[in-house]
Amino acid sequence: MPAPYLGPIRTWWCPECNVPVLKEKCPSCRSRAEKLEVTPPGEIKFASEKEIRMINRVIEEKFGVTILRNELVLLNKLPATDKAYEVIVNGRRILQVHFLPESGWIPKLKPEGGQLIYNLGGRGWIIADGKASESIVSKGVNLMAPGVTDAHPSLKVGDEVYVLNPAGRVIATGTLKEVWSSVKRGVVVKVRDSWEADDIFDKESSLEAAVEANEPILKEEAELSVSFIQKTLSFVKKDVTVAFSGGKDSLIVLDLVSEVIDPKVIFTDTGIEYPETVKYVKSFSGDYDILVADAEDGFWRGFEILGPPARDYRWCCKVCKLGPTNKLLKEVFPDGCITFVGQRRYESSKRAKQRRIFTNPWIPLQIGASPIRNWSSLQVWLYISWKGLRINPLYLDGFDRVGCWPCPSSDMWDFEMLKERHPNLLKKLENELSKFLPEEDIKSGNWRFLRKRSPLKFWERNLERWISLLSNEYYSKRFNNLLKSIRKNSESIRIDHRLSLRDEREILWILAKAVSCLGCGSCLGKCPTGALGLGADGKIEISEHLCTGCGKCLRPCPLIDYSEVHAWTY
Ligand code: SF4
Ligand code: SF4
Ligand SMILES: [Zn+2]
Repeated sequence: MPAPYLGPIRTWWCPECNVPVLKEKCPSCRSRAEKLEVTPPGEIKFASEKEIRMINRVIEEKFGVTILRNELVLLNKLPATDKAYEVIVNGRRILQVHFLPESGWIPKLKPEGGQLIYNLGGRGWIIADGKASESIVSKGVNLMAPGVTDAHPSLKVGDEVYVLNPAGRVIATGTLKEVWSSVKRGVVVKVRDSWEADDIFDKESSLEAAVEANEPILKEEAELSVSFIQKTLSFVKKDVTVAFSGGKDSLIVLDLVSEVIDPKVIFTDTGIEYPETVKYVKSFSGDYDILVADAEDGFWRGFEILGPPARDYRWCCKVCKLGPTNKLLKEVFPDGCITFVGQRRYESSKRAKQRRIFTNPWIPLQIGASPIRNWSSLQVWLYISWKGLRINPLYLDGFDRVGCWPCPSSDMWDFEMLKERHPNLLKKLENELSKFLPEEDIKSGNWRFLRKRSPLKFWERNLERWISLLSNEYYSKRFNNLLKSIRKNSESIRIDHRLSLRDEREILWILAKAVSCLGCGSCLGKCPTGALGLGADGKIEISEHLCTGCGKCLRPCPLIDYSEVHAWTY
């Protein structure tokens, strides 16, 4: 999967100090650092103990040696279908690990990783003669049967292997296609990477040393971010808030903003947060005034009507995040606020395009600003260690993201970890998915990618039920309230079973909102006259005498947006 360009990768390695550095010149020893070769976008983190154990286990199973000991291990997240990391030790990529739902974690070695394994006495080697070695290094060709002189006896077809030259240097890694002793011709190793392995120097490295070496840069960058916050506040005269999700990025923003002002903290509880995250955020209540935008059970109510979310069909962001935030802002900051957020350009193409100060049409009362827009993930982790900030415990367990647990953007590995920690939650998700999808789409994780077929499905599935509910006085009253307000002259519309898909869309939209309003609040900020509100039943209500019938509240509603505008999946 190709990586999108999200900005330059700003990571180097100082061979003297044996640590990653954020600038080309090592701030500690002043020597010139080497560019750290990593796959873009270069979102690097420090491996947790659990992840180091996982990598060691995978290598031990295949090659019979323990590869990682006490060194500092960096993991670079790869753009892959499921979870995958590049493993970096002493400034060199030594291998990749890929999670495959059907077979678990599998390793893909780099020549440096093969050399480490070989030096430790591990399995998995195959020796090429001088001529074959030369061709492999110079042309990247596969290793053919006549060029092999020896191989470890345990090798089987399909194994991950590394190729040695006659001098005992690893020159390639790849997959074994044939057992050498049983063939005379043909490809024995399909080569993936081919170069002579660099020496991995045997020097100490530690997180403490990395933090110490980078301290001047961390300080300088933090000062720049603080001055951005100050400058922003000098021209945006509004209440100051920080959106704190319980994640690492917003933790830093909270720390930086607190240096300038005492902010109010907004925590959007999507109702599908990891219990650990909710507990973690609440633990800050002694230090901050935490305002909770609570989505309650909006996710499951939305699920019933809109169907399962998917990567290109994330109605849940509106229902569980933007809507509740809107409701909270309308109540607490009716004149608007500025919210500092932890968004970074390296997170996604969408974020890379976003400006540093921005507005979101779905949250009109909020001006957003991102003080750490250009920070890399490595910088984030170094800053956290430097300042000794207390992180969400899920990170220590190897989680990359600590937001909503049923998110369709999760990897299958995330769901494996969810199963380990909260099997009941995963069961609930699978149970709800099974109301819409066959088991194979659930087990394989395909439900996360299902795409548009036709918006008609949504209406077909719901319309009949909605019309029949109109015979109920409560729904009929709601429908009439919305219809009479938004469509000032529409009293004459007959509300009976003759209403069909051929009727005007707007009427159908009003019906959807009248009957199935999720009470998410996404439309609240759109009304210019303040005619919109949520009634005692938590659903949208219009004050008829304030409403001018402008219709601005119609479309910004997940029920409409995701049935008409966005991909519809089933
Ligand atoms: S946005 Fe326009 S149509 Fe909707 S309630 Fe307000 S005034 Fe009425
Ligand atoms: S009508 Fe408003 S509150 Fe109800 S679901 Fe739509 S956006 Fe949410
Ligand atoms: Zn140095």
